[in-house]
Amino acid sequence: MSVNDDTTSSMLKRLADDPMLVLNKMASENGSLDLGLGFPNFPPPHHITQALSDAATGNNFTLHHYTSPYGHPRLVNVLAKLYSKFLSTTLDPTDHVLITIGAFQGLSSICQSLIYPGDEVILLEPFYAAYKTMLEMRGAVPVYVPLRPYKDGGEQSSANWVFNTAELQKAVTSKTKAIFLNTPMNPLGKVFDKKELREISDLCVKHNLLCVADEVYERLIYGGKQHTRIASFPNMWQRTISLGSAGKSFSVTGWKVGWCVGPKHLIQVLQNYHFSAIRTSPTPTQEALAVAFEKEMHVMNTPESYFQTISKELELKRNRLCQYLNKAGFNAITPDGGCYIIADISNILAHAVGKDKISEEALDYRFAKWAVTEKKLCVMPLSIFYSEAHRYMSEKYVRICFLKTDETLEKAKEILDEWKQS
Ligand code: PMP
Repeated sequence: MSVNDDTTSSMLKRLADDPMLVLNKMASENGSLDLGLGFPNFPPPHHITQALSDAATGNNFTLHHYTSPYGHPRLVNVLAKLYSKFLSTTLDPTDHVLITIGAFQGLSSICQSLIYPGDEVILLEPFYAAYKTMLEMRGAVPVYVPLRPYKDGGEQSSANWVFNTAELQKAVTSKTKAIFLNTPMNPLGKVFDKKELREISDLCVKHNLLCVADEVYERLIYGGKQHTRIASFPNMWQRTISLGSAGKSFSVTGWKVGWCVGPKHLIQVLQNYHFSAIRTSPTPTQEALAVAFEKEMHVMNTPESYFQTISKELELKRNRLCQYLNKAGFNAITPDGGCYIIADISNILAHAVGKDKISEEALDYRFAKWAVTEKKLCVMPLSIFYSEAHRYMSEKYVRICFLKTDETLEKAKEILDEWKQS
């Protein structure tokens, strides 16, 4: 077999044309304002960097060496305590928790060890783009169920986007292995409510499905909304892996520490895979995060909690950027969680790139390229979070990140104000 015939290698070649990579490259080459990717351009809280500094310069030299393969004991201990509280059960740090190199590696390990070639996996659209790639690389088959806004026009919120129950039920076949649930959702910012989670959990229980609950944005929730863990629903603990990310929770995306929490029979498979493919995650960052979580446990639900501070600050940033976008002719869909705003560009699309399809390229992608080139503003086309079949649902939207300093948001305002005038 020649290299070109191999499905995986041709897929990997195609990934080089990923719009996210292309737009990022264009933006960094021409110095555009980058609201494309979801990382903070502000420092983490001092007590967290101090904890890392202490880990690196303190007397405990063992922190510079390999720690336990499945997770640094101090970190798995505090996470087990925390999730015992969240799920009202007693978790065992060695059996129920695995530390990974970011939640990304947790997702990848799940795809490699619990999903098999030919398995069908349900993805709710718009989905975190990596799910599709990871599943396809494994030879699994993503099956797509789109969320749709139930009202058009007027003020839009991520809560208006819902799945159709009959469509979700129809997506299950004898080959369905799992459903990926991302709440709060990237890119939409939707926080699934109890009724929606109940429907998903009923489906999982009825058809004996694995539920991959990607909860990396669990700390970034606004307007008094509550994050509900699907693992806490009846009969769901034994079939759910919940994923979290230190990057998103403590504004340290570069530390790349994530975790999987779940029942022993699932975590054990992941641990075995982890030992063969990854072996051990870095020790100093795990130690520092253990210190940070221990502090959070003491101050949880008080103004001293970083989780409270960050969500309050981000809610103001969200409101501010929605306002700037709406003033410029976008129609922002206010997110209840996460760090992105989806904005409807129907009113400005034609002026920017015309209405007609002149190539296979999605209109929103053409718009995003135009915005980088002409306006020096980098945003992401929503179509990259959709399947081919449902791409038409996404072409009038872009995704914009608000996890940025107020100075950056003011620069965005200047660009948008000038845009409006021109
Ligand atoms: N899941 C979702 C939905 C994400 O948005 C991201 C990061 N953008 C990840 C997982 C990966 O998280 P980490 O940075 O911890 O690897």
